[in-house]
Amino acid sequence: MIRNLKRYLSDPFLKRMYKEIRQAGSIKSISVDLTHECNIRCTGCYYFSEGMDSAKSPIDEEHFDLFIKKELDRGTNFITVVGGEPSLQLGRLRKLHENFRINVSTNGLVKIPYEGFESMPIGVSIWGDHATDRTMRGGGNVNIFRTALKNYKDDTRAFWYYTVAPGRADEIERVVEQCIENGNNVLFNYYSDMLGIGGELDYRSGFKDVREEINRMIKLYPDKILMSSYLSEVVTTGELYGQKWGHEVCTSVSVNHEANSERIKNGNPYNPHFRAYNADLESTRRCCTGINRSCDSCLDTWEHYSWIILNMKKHLSSKREFTNWLSTMYLFYLINRLVDFDEGMKLLPEIHYRLGNGGFRKSVRKEEQKHPVMIAQGV
Ligand code: SF4
Ligand code: SF4
Repeated sequence: MIRNLKRYLSDPFLKRMYKEIRQAGSIKSISVDLTHECNIRCTGCYYFSEGMDSAKSPIDEEHFDLFIKKELDRGTNFITVVGGEPSLQLGRLRKLHENFRINVSTNGLVKIPYEGFESMPIGVSIWGDHATDRTMRGGGNVNIFRTALKNYKDDTRAFWYYTVAPGRADEIERVVEQCIENGNNVLFNYYSDMLGIGGELDYRSGFKDVREEINRMIKLYPDKILMSSYLSEVVTTGELYGQKWGHEVCTSVSVNHEANSERIKNGNPYNPHFRAYNADLESTRRCCTGINRSCDSCLDTWEHYSWIILNMKKHLSSKREFTNWLSTMYLFYLINRLVDFDEGMKLLPEIHYRLGNGGFRKSVRKEEQKHPVMIAQGV
């Protein structure tokens, strides 16, 4: 295996990505609900659907500061900040940013200022084009997408975390165009239909059309799309080297939670540092998502990043598979600014080109495998 790795790394492009990741160092990550409050109610938000707001945020700052100290002592160096809505707690968000590398998710209604947050990656959520977003997140009245576009106009910290429902593939191009014209990048996520509404929202109908459209966006905007075709395929098929996505293989499980005591003994890789903290900053839950979430409906992109990353060994059988793994790892480091962001973004078209359209796990028509320069020139 080591010999294989050496052989793959004789490719200067792969060597460069691998070296940058090694230099950035390993991640000891946790997930934190910064607050139990939110300024909207999205349709099917797992946070409120599963009563996760029942764990209230600490009122006093002393409690919050103590949490930071404990996590620093434990060696935590990276936090995914979620909620609730983190922009409602800017003081506490700043403290986390000052002490850890962080990535924050926001609905975009309240702008996170530059001052004190200059280099922080901000994932701005979006669930569809204006009408869809208004219906699903704005209670039929508020156009959150429009407000978020204004708040993050030409803001290079921001990338859109675009959650697409299975029957809404036809909106993808319009949404992506607006996000890119706004001066931002795009990462995709997949809608889970927590409320069982069904129809166009039903995850059980599969994401084939969505996946194909995302691949088309990668070809159209190879320098702006932070989702790789490989990752998209793994998330939407829930398959990785013969294993099926779910609790038994999930790598982002709280190691100190009793619900995971058997899981972490079953031989599948897991993140030994990880904890998903509730908003009280004391209790943890099984994983980042809902307390009672069925793993069948779990299509979260971040969790699948971790699944691929922690299964490196399985990706060492060929250069193509290693490229799948390394590009996933690199994109995670890039989005989270753990490597030089501006320099790393220049590699994006080549990364997509190396992965091919639809990933290397599928047969790819030759004429679709155009080099990024050709794509840019519209050849
Ligand atoms: S913005 Fe986030 S936390 Fe708030 S309701 Fe929507 S999905 Fe839930
Ligand atoms: S719901 Fe998702 S993140 Fe949670 S244990 Fe299941 S697969 Fe993992």
